[in-house]
Amino acid sequence: ELRFASSLDRLGTESAFVVLARAQQLAAQGKDIINLGIGQPDFQTPEHIVEAGIKALRDGHHGYTPANGIPALREAVAADLHRRHGVEVNPDNVVVVPGGKPTMFFAVLMFGQPGAEIMYPNPGFPIYESVIRYSGATPVPIALREEEGFAFSAEAVLDQITDKTSLIIINSPANPTGGVTPKEEIDKLVAGLADHPHVTLMSDEIYSNMLYGGRKHVSLLQYPEIRDRLIMLDGWSKTYAMTGWRLGYAVWPDAAVDHVTRLCINDHSCVNAATQYAGIAALNGPQDAVDDMMVHFDDRRQAIVQALNELPGVRCSDPGGAFYAFPNIKGTGMTSKQAQDRILEEAGVATVAGTSFGAWGEGFLRFSYANSKENILTAIDRIKPLLS
Ligand code: PLP
Repeated sequence: ELRFASSLDRLGTESAFVVLARAQQLAAQGKDIINLGIGQPDFQTPEHIVEAGIKALRDGHHGYTPANGIPALREAVAADLHRRHGVEVNPDNVVVVPGGKPTMFFAVLMFGQPGAEIMYPNPGFPIYESVIRYSGATPVPIALREEEGFAFSAEAVLDQITDKTSLIIINSPANPTGGVTPKEEIDKLVAGLADHPHVTLMSDEIYSNMLYGGRKHVSLLQYPEIRDRLIMLDGWSKTYAMTGWRLGYAVWPDAAVDHVTRLCINDHSCVNAATQYAGIAALNGPQDAVDDMMVHFDDRRQAIVQALNELPGVRCSDPGGAFYAFPNIKGTGMTSKQAQDRILEEAGVATVAGTSFGAWGEGFLRFSYANSKENILTAIDRIKPLLS
């Protein structure tokens, strides 16, 4: 018998991948499946970015790079943050990693241990809770509520801080709800954190380029008073349709940069060099492809919300960001998991049960609108008879 470490029992997963596997299995049997389950843009990476990656390979960039990322890439990140959020960031505080996920894993490993408490959104990205449990820390859920537009409530966060709290994870725009936290709540949260100097904040801003209806992203970097204990996570996966390239970064506080760089050296040495050159082209090049993608996402967003609200027993609030709709399906009489399974098996539409994002996602279903408008509307039409 293999002597696996018991810590593995605490490691969770992302069930969107389980749904994807089943959807692919059904498709292989010849079923027509519309995938509204997966959280990645259905667009290709813009051509000039692909070309920059190919050129880097042809130019001989085949070796290790600095563990924290190529200097020109970290400078491009700082310039991008200045452009988008109006903030000054020292490129030395930027650490480039393979995607959005490594930052969250490293942050939780740095602040999580038995006896520590780490707060995370529920419903929220499932990897947060998984890695918190893996670290041995106690996960403390922050409830996100439909009636509050799935925004963070500063009070709900601050009320749960104890002497043991080491890290708080927030995410806006949010997966799976599309919720956007308004500036007033962030102002209140940052003001309240002044009373708790032992707490570090990780702000997952991977969807910071994806807001709708005139909403403007508020970055936690815009609050100088918490820079010395802020980890701001962002990356290329969603904005530039680069999920498979594996490229992300975070801005770390001075005190944490050496620690996270050592984690990078121990884990992956550096991100694939050609990918980093592609990342430079993404940030420094034209942004029209990003703008075009957002026009499509917004159009689909409005279409899916309207169509979902016409389904019996379903109501869907307006998602302000990301590319997810998170309707309340309690009126259908089904649990989230039942609805997910029936809709996949009987209507051939992949969605993800709200409970995949935490227990408080019960009664909700996540629809990703990273698919064509035509497919989205066909999918909802196919679901309708199941609910009538
Ligand atoms: N953070 C959130 C909130 C996400 O939804 C995702 C991906 O779905 C990530 C981070 C991870 O992105 P990546 O694929 O770059 O690791």
